[in-house]
Amino acid sequence: MKACVIGGGLAGSEAAYQLAKRGVSVTLYEMRPVVATPVHRGGGLAELVCSNSLKSVDVNTAQGTLKEEMRLLDSLTLRAAYIARVPAGNALAVDRERFSAEIEKALDATGMVTVVREEVTRIPDDAIVATGPLTSEKLAVEIEKVCGGQRLYFYDAAAPIVTGASIDRGKVFFAARYGKGDADYLNCPMTKEEYLAFREALVAARRVILKDFEKGELFENCMPVEEMARRGADALRFGPLRPVGIRGADGEKYHAVVQLRKEDDYDGLYNLVGFQTNLVFPEQERVFRMIPGLENAEFVRYGVMHRNTFLHSPGFLNADFSVRGRERLFFAGQITGVEGYLESAASGLIAGINLYERLTGGSTHVLPETTMCGSLQKYVSEYRGDFQPMHVSFALTPPQENRIKDKALRKKAYSERALSDLTKYIENIKGVSI
Ligand SMILES: Cc1cc2nc3c(=O)[nH]c(=O)nc-3n(C[C@H](O)[C@H](O)[C@H](O)COP(=O)(O)OP(=O)(O)OC[C@H]3O[C@@H](n4cnc5c(N)ncnc54)[C@H](O)[C@@H]3O)c2cc1C
Repeated sequence: MKACVIGGGLAGSEAAYQLAKRGVSVTLYEMRPVVATPVHRGGGLAELVCSNSLKSVDVNTAQGTLKEEMRLLDSLTLRAAYIARVPAGNALAVDRERFSAEIEKALDATGMVTVVREEVTRIPDDAIVATGPLTSEKLAVEIEKVCGGQRLYFYDAAAPIVTGASIDRGKVFFAARYGKGDADYLNCPMTKEEYLAFREALVAARRVILKDFEKGELFENCMPVEEMARRGADALRFGPLRPVGIRGADGEKYHAVVQLRKEDDYDGLYNLVGFQTNLVFPEQERVFRMIPGLENAEFVRYGVMHRNTFLHSPGFLNADFSVRGRERLFFAGQITGVEGYLESAASGLIAGINLYERLTGGSTHVLPETTMCGSLQKYVSEYRGDFQPMHVSFALTPPQENRIKDKALRKKAYSERALSDLTKYIENIKGVSI
């Protein structure tokens, strides 16, 4: 049995391992160091392009739960991370060189993986495409042919997303502009003083320094909210924060209104409309928590504006990560619309297992939607809102039947449900045992 994996990043390396350990002979194509990307530094497999942190190990967080799920599913990425771990408190941070070396060593040890250093420009079947946010241009052209155009995005300009449970409902209200249509937006009203203080903080906040390749490309159609604020005291009030047509319950008018749009069916996630931003993440928390109602907002995704090649996967990918109508071809990693090192690796893990199933005539796996992995599968294949690459979050899973008020206990319950459901499911997956 043979398969090929295109892209030796987080997702591709994990996918190659999952195939190899199940007896599939894998050709893993990685274009570096022959062809460089704008951010990778060397030629190592599974290179971490930015932070060396794989986030929290606390099992009662979504990130910690994902780690535990990946451990149960025998993830190479997670094993290599623990071998290469460096002290970082509750976070799993790694020595990036050692991490990459451990991945290469483990793939080599399978005796089933041949690494070919070349840029792939054609897409075969029996393959997993895991070429990441910096997919080479030639391959992107081919991917567009497979997905029929209009589905491949080249940069990500996304507003932050907060959990519905963390919004102070006493300060915000549902209303449609001019009372027309469904009242789908939650409105955060601002007085003049609140607005001016907010604008001042926004203008002064620390921003990400864009890389040269990102300048120009990103600003053509989309202006960061802080840049708009810089254009004048009222620019935001005439832009995304315009209050016209929005009245309170007693008909009161406001100086400015921030609108939050539902991101899912569960009332679990809300998007800050028009807030695509280049502020660094801690500054997003500090400044956006000045918005009335968001004082204790829990951010499941920060706003970003960077080069990022990703598919509009819903309607194109099945939940098992295969292409609809071309089921021997899979995608994995950030290109599918998951976001983050471990989320990318997790999708590679599932795509690897599923390509093996397809090669052997078995049934592919969609993990329970209560699990972090399963919720990502559901997200990329079914999401109906504004599709943007997404981290794992408990808010992506169905709500608990009985809502638990205490936040810590609620998170614990989400985590326990995920791990219990995965443990029950795992006996269906060949090559994994508890
Ligand atoms: C600038 C930037 C910073 C980021 N920082 C973080 C962070 O700090 N923390 C975090 O959790 N996530 C971060 N991410 C998001 C994401 O987690 C990483 O990009 C992650 O590496 C994605 O994994 P992947 O396997 O999908 O892609 P990658 O790890 O990028 O792997 C894709 C591989 O495919 C190769 N490739 C591309 N085209 C071809 C081709 N045609 N033929 C052969 N090989 C090809 C590339 O060289 C690369 O090695 C960042 C993303 C970007 C763009």
